[in-house]
Amino acid sequence: ALSPILPSADPSTWLGVMGGGQLGRMFAHAAQAMGYKVAVLEPSADCPAGQVADRTIEGDYTDGDALATLSALCAAVTTEFENVPADSLAQLAADSFVAPSSLCVQIAQDRILEKKFFVDCAPTSKVLPAPHKTIASHADIDDVKDDLLPGILKTVRMGYDGKGQVRVRSRDDVRAAFDSMDGVTCLLEKMLPLAYEVSVLTARGHDGESVVYPIAENVHRDGILFTTTVPGPNVSAACAQQAQDAARAIVAQLGYVGVLCIEFFVLEDGTLVVNEMAPRPHNSGHYTIDACITSQFAQQVRAMARLPLGDVRQHSASVMLNILGDVWFEGDSEDAREPAWDRVLALPGANLHLYGKNDPRRGRKMGHVTFVAPTLAEAQGNLRAACAILG
Ligand code: ADP
Ligand code: MG
Repeated sequence: ALSPILPSADPSTWLGVMGGGQLGRMFAHAAQAMGYKVAVLEPSADCPAGQVADRTIEGDYTDGDALATLSALCAAVTTEFENVPADSLAQLAADSFVAPSSLCVQIAQDRILEKKFFVDCAPTSKVLPAPHKTIASHADIDDVKDDLLPGILKTVRMGYDGKGQVRVRSRDDVRAAFDSMDGVTCLLEKMLPLAYEVSVLTARGHDGESVVYPIAENVHRDGILFTTTVPGPNVSAACAQQAQDAARAIVAQLGYVGVLCIEFFVLEDGTLVVNEMAPRPHNSGHYTIDACITSQFAQQVRAMARLPLGDVRQHSASVMLNILGDVWFEGDSEDAREPAWDRVLALPGANLHLYGKNDPRRGRKMGHVTFVAPTLAEAQGNLRAACAILG
């Protein structure tokens, strides 16, 4: 068995991250808290993770020299975004322990491979994805069956926060939407009657040990995560059990190593549908920083360093509010001003996390606030108060 990578003064024990966004920044915080040095590979040096990392390697994600520098420096490398080129992870794996693997990331970054994988998993996971069809040409659109409509046309690659998606009612809508996507391959998904959305964060070690965090209930606004509530007010014990069992089956079948988040839909009739997975810590898992014994970022450190996985127990009820750039602007004003963080922090159980982005823009993720409390009602009350302050 491979030995663990222990934090030490030895330069060969650094941990590396592909990507310099907020997930890389919070990963670096967790790794450094445990005594590791962290290197980040990212095209622009002034990035959220670059401000924190012990070293930032400025380079394109496919730059062979930059990759060689990262793998020479780091005993293990992970990624903080799913669109990292899978070939780059394969290249890093020649010299460093890479978790998650190139293959797992490749599946998660392609909606067709991902859906096929979920279907292949169904005998053990007991959940299916939404009915869907690949749309690569106009002929594919002619073949669309009536019961796939109304639906959502999604680009197969590079979609996030609802980007690269068009809602369609008819075949003509599908044609127009497909033509607007610059000829890229798409996936048409049947529009399902959602009651609510949940996600399950899991982690699996290199030895096959896995842990599953408490299920999180997510509310999106304009395609972007707005709040995550744990425990979810709508989630029944049976639903939580089914989603957690499905998550365990999916990571096992993937042979995954590291933190993975799986998003599910719960339909109006109670059916659980698997939507997508992110091969990394996830926005809906930020609550674990303040409300669980081991945060998702500390968990990623443990998994990639081949250490025992940490305790996923939740010690406080929590609600996480994403902070978008919008709150820097009053009404339609174009002049940014600092939000009243002092007033937000005066609320009980408030934990503020800002990502070091100095250019607030509407729709841009700038940070999050998590409210923890002995009861969910208290946390929710403080969240409402924060929303009133932030406008
Ligand atoms: P992204 O990669 O942008 O997160 P998702 O596939 O998660 O893409 O879609 C974003 C959101 O759109 C989902 O969280 C959900 O609210 C809605 N959505 C996506 N697919 C469906 C569907 N088949 N039926 C109903 N709503 C959907
Ligand atoms: Mg999603």
